[in-house]
Amino acid sequence: MGEWLEGRSLAEKIKEEIKEEVLYYRKKIQKVPKLVGILVGENPASKIYLSTKAKNCERLGISSEIYYLPENTSLNDLIKKIDELNENPEVDGILVQLPLPSHLNTFQVICAISPEKDVDGFHPYNLGRILHNEEGLRACTPLGIIELLKSKNIPLEGARVVVIGRSLIVGKPLAAMLTNENATVTVCHSRTKNLPKVASEADILIVAIGKPAFVTSEFVKEDAVVVDVGVNRVSDRNKIKELFGDNREREEQFEKKGYIIIGDVHPEVINKASYLTPVPGGVGPLTVAMLLKNTLKAFKKRNNLE
Ligand code: NAP
Repeated sequence: MGEWLEGRSLAEKIKEEIKEEVLYYRKKIQKVPKLVGILVGENPASKIYLSTKAKNCERLGISSEIYYLPENTSLNDLIKKIDELNENPEVDGILVQLPLPSHLNTFQVICAISPEKDVDGFHPYNLGRILHNEEGLRACTPLGIIELLKSKNIPLEGARVVVIGRSLIVGKPLAAMLTNENATVTVCHSRTKNLPKVASEADILIVAIGKPAFVTSEFVKEDAVVVDVGVNRVSDRNKIKELFGDNREREEQFEKKGYIIIGDVHPEVINKASYLTPVPGGVGPLTVAMLLKNTLKAFKKRNNLE
């Protein structure tokens, strides 16, 4: 049986370091970083994500603000708000919570954010800098995954890595970042043929597809490292029982919320992998920690502190 590769303690350690640095700058230059989030519409999961980010900012002494815009906000109005924040010297990081309502063009919105304040790392300028292997604001989830692997001294150089999922948020930037780390990377997606066979060639298998428990042991090489990025709400009690058996902790979670969060990787994979990240408590906490780290980084760059 493999080991659970949990991310909470590493995320806490990173946040403690950020907190100390924020305090240092507060004393030294009487300034702290400021992160602004924008939420368009009423997506309940997005609201939870944003308020978690704001609470984390508060804990670390980072200033934060959230703008709640109505569902029918026009592209012009949203871009006007972003421009205002781009111009505001007090603001170091701007994040627009995705997904946006369908009438808004995500690409145009991301492009409107000043690259130096793009703490999510989704702007084409920052994505392009990954391809050039130049310093920049990197997408938070890929950054967190790489930190987590490095924290366990899992070798990336020369490793065969398979990434399932090719989104701009996870799969594509992660593949480019791992290539920069000298891994040999294969990117898979919904049109990949013989997916279990391709996946089972990986020393490190990273799954970001949004399909509960999709990846079973068949996809996994003996002793591979498996990173589960998926966050899926499952409210079918039978499915939960089928996956976890009589598991009291999961039962309690279900009783409390009417659903449980599970990943893209079937829990049986722990019996074949050397490491598997849990969901929740694996990649998620590191994504938040990396957002805060990016906010501090943007602040330092904008104030010529590095
Ligand atoms: P996304 O934009 O929906 O992309 C999903 C990707 O998975 C696509 O590339 C898609 O292929 C691929 N895919 C879907 N079904 C597949 C299948 N049956 N076989 C192979 N590939 C398949 O998703 P995302 O934003 O990257 O998010 C993926 C998951 O990670 C979600 O559960 C999300 O909630 C979670 N997530 C977690 C964090 C965190 O911090 N823990 C951060 C970001 C995302 P095509 O391109 O061919 O359609």
